[in-house]
Amino acid sequence: MNRRRWFAWRKAAVWFWGFLALLITMDFCSNYARLQRRVRQAGAEAAETREAPGAIALTFDDGPSEVCTPKLLDGLKERGVHASFFLVGQNIDGKEDLVLRMQQEGHLIGNHSQTHMQLTAETVEAACRQIEYTNRKIAAVTGNEPVYVRPPYGSWSEELECMVPMTVVLWNLDPLDWKSQNKDAVVSYVKKHVENGSIILLHDIYESSVEAALELVDSLSEEGYEFVTVEELLIE
Ligand SMILES: [Zn+2]
Repeated sequence: MNRRRWFAWRKAAVWFWGFLALLITMDFCSNYARLQRRVRQAGAEAAETREAPGAIALTFDDGPSEVCTPKLLDGLKERGVHASFFLVGQNIDGKEDLVLRMQQEGHLIGNHSQTHMQLTAETVEAACRQIEYTNRKIAAVTGNEPVYVRPPYGSWSEELECMVPMTVVLWNLDPLDWKSQNKDAVVSYVKKHVENGSIILLHDIYESSVEAALELVDSLSEEGYEFVTVEELLIE
């Protein structure tokens, strides 16, 4: 092969490999674009099936507390949000003004027994006495007997259902605020698990829970959630 032919061959080889590389690149690009389109489509479909934020309920057990409840009521009033309070009868003494404030400011007041007793561990009569005592205490302040009861520890029985003509309200989102007593842990747990219809269990006897509740109101309202009482949630 003379020198000129060798150059011609080399030129042809360069063109051939260049053209092949171009074809491979074009194929890769079109496949990549197709894949991207498929990912975008899947994302749009997922967004369509995801529900828009709706109504959720903040619930507070074990109060009222002299220190924490007023701060919570102030914060909720400032934000125009209504919550649900399940009161322990023996905690009401000397804090009647807070119970009255709950009613006047549009919150729901429910019954959480007299002494935070596990109602199923007692006789039906003793359990009923616990509930009736707290109903009377609340009615003495607000003029209305509560209709909703949250049994301590969520412990309830069919037998009690017959004796106590009240609606039992449990919860479906429990950030274990009493255990961690850590505002950030409570906020991040609730934000991770919240969905439409969430009934969030908190306790207005811990400063950390009050702070978490108010931070959650701010951030979840911004996401589009609406805070309602458990009654409004159950009626919806
Ligand atoms: Zn409790």
